[in-house]
Amino acid sequence: MPIIGFIGVGNMGGGMAANLVRAGHEVRAFDLADAAVARAVSHGCTAASSARAAASGADAIITMLPAGSHVATAYKDALFAAASVDAILIDCSTIDVATARSVGEAAAEKGLAMVDAPVSGGTAAADAGTLTFMVGGPAAAFARAEPYLQAMGKAVIHAGSAGMGQAAKICNNMILGATMVATAEAFVLAEKLGLDAQTFFDISSKASGQSWSMTSYCPVPGPVPTSPANRDYQGGFASALMLKDLKLAMAAATTAGASVPMGAQAEALYQLFANNGGSEKDFSAIVRLLRGGIAP
Ligand code: NAD
Repeated sequence: MPIIGFIGVGNMGGGMAANLVRAGHEVRAFDLADAAVARAVSHGCTAASSARAAASGADAIITMLPAGSHVATAYKDALFAAASVDAILIDCSTIDVATARSVGEAAAEKGLAMVDAPVSGGTAAADAGTLTFMVGGPAAAFARAEPYLQAMGKAVIHAGSAGMGQAAKICNNMILGATMVATAEAFVLAEKLGLDAQTFFDISSKASGQSWSMTSYCPVPGPVPTSPANRDYQGGFASALMLKDLKLAMAAATTAGASVPMGAQAEALYQLFANNGGSEKDFSAIVRLLRGGIAP
C-alpha cells in the first residue's frame, strides 16, 4: 500500500487526504493546527508529529498550505531532506508562479521529482473528490503524480513545466473575478432599468452574455437555486480567496510585463469589498457593493 505524507490538512487538505484514504492509501497527516490533524485522523489518516515525520519514507508527499512562503519553507527546511529519492512531491497549494518555479527547480537540483498542482473547485469538491488539477512539472513527474491526483479529482491536466499549473490557475481565476464583476453589474443595471432578474437570466444565459459566473454562481437569488446568493452568500468561494488569486495574477502580470486592466479593476473592487467586511462572503456578493450598499 503506497504511503503518503500529507502536510496541511485544513479546509481543502482534510477532504483531499480523506479521499486518498478511501482510495486505499496509508496517509500520514501533519498540520500546525491540532484540530485539523484530529479531523484527518477521524477520516482514517495517521497523525504525524512533524512534516519531516510525515514525509520520511513516503512514496508521495503532498502539501496543501496557505501561501508561497509556507510552501518554500516547508520544502526547503524539511521536506527535501526527508524525502526518499524515489518519492513524488506534489504541491497543491495556490501560490505565486515565481515561488512554484523556484521550489520546482530546487527539487530538480536535488534529483527529486516534483509538480505544482493547484486545484479548481472549493471545499465541496475537495470532500467529494471532484477537484480539477492543473499541473506544472516535467512529463515524467506528471505521470507519477497523476494516479494520486486522480484519487482526489475529476480532471488532471498537464499544463507544462514547473510553475505552469499555478500560471493556469491564476489566469483562470482572473477571468472568473472579472466575469463575476461584469455579470453582477449587469444584473444591477437590469434591476435599475426595471428588467426582471429571472427574465434577464433566461435571456442572457442563452445569449452571448453567458458565463460560468452567470450559470453556476448567479450573483442574485432565484435563477440558479444552488448559487450562494440563495443562502446569503455563505459558503462557496470566499471573496478573500478571490482577492488572493487576483493579487497573485497582478504580481505575475507585473513580472511578465502583461497588460491586465480588467483583472486590475477586479482586484481593486474585491479589495474595496474586503476592506468593508466582505472577505468571508462568497465572491458573488460583490453585487452588493455594486448596488451601492457597501455592507456585505
Ligand atoms: P486552510 O487555512 O483551511 O488550510 C491550510 C492549513 O495549513 C491549515 O490547517 C494550517 O494550519 C496549515 N499550515 C500552515 N502552515 C503550515 C506548516 N508550515 N506546516 C503544516 N501545516 C501548516 O486553507 P484551505 O482553504 O485549505 O486552502 C489551502 C490552499 O488551497 C490555499 O493555497 C488556497 O488558496 C487553496 N485553495 C482553496 C480553496 C478553497 O475553496 N478553500 C479552493 C482552491 C484552492
